[in-house]
Amino acid sequence: MAWAQQSQFEDRKVGRRIVKQRYRILLFSLVLILVSCQAEKPSQDTFKRSEIIQPQKWWEKLPRPIYSSFERINVGQEWYEVYKLSGDTLAIYEPYQFEEAISYLVLGKEKGVLVDTGTGIGNLRKLVLELTDLPVSVVNTHTHWDHIGANSQFDIISCFNHPECIGKLLKGVGNIRLRPSITGDSIWNLLPDELDPSSWEIPSVKPTQLLEDGEIIDLGGGRTLEVIHTPGHSPGSICLLDKKNRILFTGDTFFPGPLYAYPEDVDIDLYRASIDLLNGRIEEYDYLCSGHNDPWVKSEVIPRVARAFQTIMAGDGNFKQDGDLRRYYFEGFDILIRTDMIKE
Ligand SMILES: [Zn+2]
Repeated sequence: MAWAQQSQFEDRKVGRRIVKQRYRILLFSLVLILVSCQAEKPSQDTFKRSEIIQPQKWWEKLPRPIYSSFERINVGQEWYEVYKLSGDTLAIYEPYQFEEAISYLVLGKEKGVLVDTGTGIGNLRKLVLELTDLPVSVVNTHTHWDHIGANSQFDIISCFNHPECIGKLLKGVGNIRLRPSITGDSIWNLLPDELDPSSWEIPSVKPTQLLEDGEIIDLGGGRTLEVIHTPGHSPGSICLLDKKNRILFTGDTFFPGPLYAYPEDVDIDLYRASIDLLNGRIEEYDYLCSGHNDPWVKSEVIPRVARAFQTIMAGDGNFKQDGDLRRYYFEGFDILIRTDMIKE
């Protein structure tokens, strides 16, 4: 009996030790989680883009005047604004996030193409189903995050046949990289309830089709999109020419805002060559549907962009500087460029 009591006593002691040990492990894990959150947080919360890239209270200039000239289509999600441009082309605009991304739903008689998928903050698939009954596939003008955000909501996804594009789609974009763009001053309206900024990410997708320079995408009813490889802003950037409607979808190769000619994956010589290429084909289009800010820009801006690059390289032009970054100001667009890229 005494032995049994002793044994029970020992068991209780061992039991208490195990509970204590587990408690210690739990406490240690909690501390680890807290420390790692703290280590990650300050850099995210205090993240600030240069004022010459993202001016304070950038949203005060909204709404942009151009939008009042188009019919707005009422849709079920507050995150998106949809406008009817000419020739069965819808602009899908995201005004509440700094990038002011614009995707385009381009409809033919048999199918539709979604030119880019924006930030992915909203439910773009649901929106597209509201707008058309046609089968819709995605074509990415390039693979920066704010053009591929909602790719994973679609089944057919194509990008230019370049390792950079394919690699970026396969990689996806992680939460740490995205968080500065969906918190703080980058947003001026509530994010959709379903989106948790602390865990949201852009999932990896596999492109189902790869596009070649000169390839024609046939949407039926005589509406086609020609793929024009325009490297420079990124190696695999493309523009899409809708010959019938005389529209050029430019992605980030041109938009009425600060053209990003400074990041690491920019090749300034290729960028200039691509603008010259588009300039050489200016007789084929009247309007540009750009990737940000305004969805409808007269084509006459393209020769002015070509001249703007010449001006910068010649050492002229008005600019503001922050470190080695310069923002040059032109009428209807600006150019952000690094000082080491400026050469004649
Ligand atoms: Zn881009």
